[in-house]
Amino acid sequence: MAAKSLASCIFCKIIKGEIPSFKLVETDTILSFLDIGPLSKGHALIIPKYHAEKLHELPDEYLADVLPTAKKIALALNAENYNLLQNNGRIAHQEVDHVHFHVIPKPAPGDNEGLVIGWPVQKLTMDELKKLQEELLTKL
Ligand code: AMP
Ligand code: ZN
Repeated sequence: MAAKSLASCIFCKIIKGEIPSFKLVETDTILSFLDIGPLSKGHALIIPKYHAEKLHELPDEYLADVLPTAKKIALALNAENYNLLQNNGRIAHQEVDHVHFHVIPKPAPGDNEGLVIGWPVQKLTMDELKKLQEELLTKL
């Protein structure tokens, strides 16, 4: 699959070396580098070398190195606690419209650093869950 690039995209510019970054790992299909606005020390990004705005638009081959690289970075950071995050769409907190995966170390409990998440659990009955499963299975 040929790489796709968008001239106006800041992450495509990083891939092409047109703007600088603090690189960590590079393969044929991904580049990782330190986040310029870290939520904690060691916050890193992994980006596919293909311009797709959202995850579902990205060809599968550009995903192959993402999790092994996230694991490599987590090991290098010696992070006991950390989050992997991938945002899609503005209301889901995506600011840069080129698929990217965050590796975010989570420092000590009570420390106001790292990713802070709301987790608003919805109440669904077993019947509602079953109906949803059936709907999705027709499309998967
Ligand atoms: P998101 O909100 O998931 O779109 O995250 C975008 C991330 O990209 C933010 O954490 C930014 O700090 C980071 N970012 C934006 N521009 C750069 C850059 N030039 N170099 C490194 N990280 C960047
Ligand atoms: Zn791009």
